[in-house]
Amino acid sequence: MRSALVLNATYEPLSVVSSKRAICLVLAGKAEVIHEDGTWIRSASLSFASPTVIRLRYVVRVPYLRRTALSRKAVFVRDSHRCQYCGGLADSIDHVIPRSRGGPHAWDNVAAACRPCNLHKRDRTPDEAGMRLANSPRPPRDGSWIDVSVGRVPEVWLPYLARAS
Ligand SMILES: [Zn+2]
Repeated sequence: MRSALVLNATYEPLSVVSSKRAICLVLAGKAEVIHEDGTWIRSASLSFASPTVIRLRYVVRVPYLRRTALSRKAVFVRDSHRCQYCGGLADSIDHVIPRSRGGPHAWDNVAAACRPCNLHKRDRTPDEAGMRLANSPRPPRDGSWIDVSVGRVPEVWLPYLARAS
């Protein structure tokens, strides 16, 4: 699925949508195409160059700091899909202070972990389990919601993202 970066009227990056959704916004007169990738999307009655960057024609108010929502996928992206205990491929989420002991479900208390490490740690703190975290968990940098949305950021988006940070 191709995706398009949506810019505010002020050129601030707002979100990522599918190319089809981007075309709908353009056809509805809500956005203009800034970049297209030269491939074509065809429907029964229309063919349209696939947009990769669009800009809204009106200003959307957004909170000053856009926070990346805490999700399983977002934790894997932050921790590069690596178990924070052994460096192996992570396939689960560990609560550093276990939830059963009052640890919050929050960015600074979650770490990507592999299943064996998670099983070994059980409902213990890393100290109690004799395990060490590679990095102390913290909220991801601003703008990482874009990595979470697309996995790999297309080059044509970079100037717009740089402008935002
Ligand atoms: Zn591990």
